[in-house]
Amino acid sequence: MNILNDLSLARHTTMHIGGPAHEIIEVFNESDVAEAVSYARNKNYPLLVIGQGSNLIFSDKGFDGCVVINKISGLSINKISGQVKVGGGVSWHELVVKTVEAGLIGIEAMAMIPGTCGATPVNNIGAYGQELKDVFLSLRAYDTHTNQYVIMKKIECQFGYRSSRFKDKEHGRYIITELTLQLQQTPARYTAPDYPSLIKRLAAKGINETTPQQVMETVMEIRSEKLPDPSKLASVGSFFKNPILANSKVEQLLRHYPDMPHFPQNNTQTTKLSGGWLIEKAGLKGMHKNGIWVYEGSALVLVNEHGASFKDLWSMVSLIQSTVSTMFGVMLEPEPELFV
Ligand SMILES: Cc1cc2nc3c(=O)[nH]c(=O)nc-3n(C[C@H](O)[C@H](O)[C@H](O)COP(=O)(O)OP(=O)(O)OC[C@H]3O[C@@H](n4cnc5c(N)ncnc54)[C@H](O)[C@@H]3O)c2cc1C
Repeated sequence: MNILNDLSLARHTTMHIGGPAHEIIEVFNESDVAEAVSYARNKNYPLLVIGQGSNLIFSDKGFDGCVVINKISGLSINKISGQVKVGGGVSWHELVVKTVEAGLIGIEAMAMIPGTCGATPVNNIGAYGQELKDVFLSLRAYDTHTNQYVIMKKIECQFGYRSSRFKDKEHGRYIITELTLQLQQTPARYTAPDYPSLIKRLAAKGINETTPQQVMETVMEIRSEKLPDPSKLASVGSFFKNPILANSKVEQLLRHYPDMPHFPQNNTQTTKLSGGWLIEKAGLKGMHKNGIWVYEGSALVLVNEHGASFKDLWSMVSLIQSTVSTMFGVMLEPEPELFV
């Protein structure tokens, strides 16, 4: 393992915000993980494992403990069976590209989701009609309660929409070191995932019989237009969740705003609204304040333009929340995990 001297967490998150940790340790294999856990325990520090920090925000105070950065590599792809084993520190996008090159399907529409493979089960990542749980077989993780490695099958992970047992109840208990996925060989008659904006874009490009490579490239094109590239602009992607409200509240809003996009949720009395539309309608899209920019491409995204602090970020978040709440009576909730 590698104990870092530079303790700033801003360098280890895609939002580039956050004060110091007491210790930051990079781990490269499974024995490093056990060593880092015992190191933190001996110093009485709470421990937090992170990947690329693309879905979390630290405050200016930083983290009062030890942050472990997962750098575990390793990738094996069986082109015949479609089974893939990947180290927790490998970039998810790199995995997508390699599996598409190997002629396998199942994750081609999840290209360009930032972050490491080890973090993907936490949120059960998904995009453009595909979701991790649909290709997930099992994972290997270090259980910090028993100090042993465990293997968990899909059913044990309790995957839901952008959630799992690792996100809520047992956050921090397991350090995920390896995933095993089950992909499929590309069939002779391959069809793209049934996702309206993807299908529309493929059709606009004149593609009728598509390939997994074309689907991956088309998703990358759409994403590049909507979301800032984390290597160029600091963000965590969508900063706010799309709100889900009772149908009666949505009906009230539609009387005032008949053009408001709304998406009834199957078998529930609820409807999802577009948080980006609410922010734009409130006149905040494109606004710059204290180094934070409400992104032009999608108003749900907040960009740290130049060295903003958590305080600067939070003043923008509060402004957006209070303006949207006053205008629509809807409270927008942050999407990333907050360590404040
Ligand atoms: C521009 C942008 C676009 C995005 N688009 C999407 C999208 O389309 N769909 C989507 O689902 N998400 C999206 N995200 C969110 C993010 O990419 C995912 O949540 C990703 O899986 C986070 O990976 P990470 O390595 O950066 O995790 P981190 O942000 O470092 O950590 C996230 C959480 O996982 C935990 N964690 C990290 N590694 C491990 C591990 N090895 N074991 C146990 N727990 C761990 C952390 O403690 C933390 O709770 C986007 C983010 C950005 C910045």
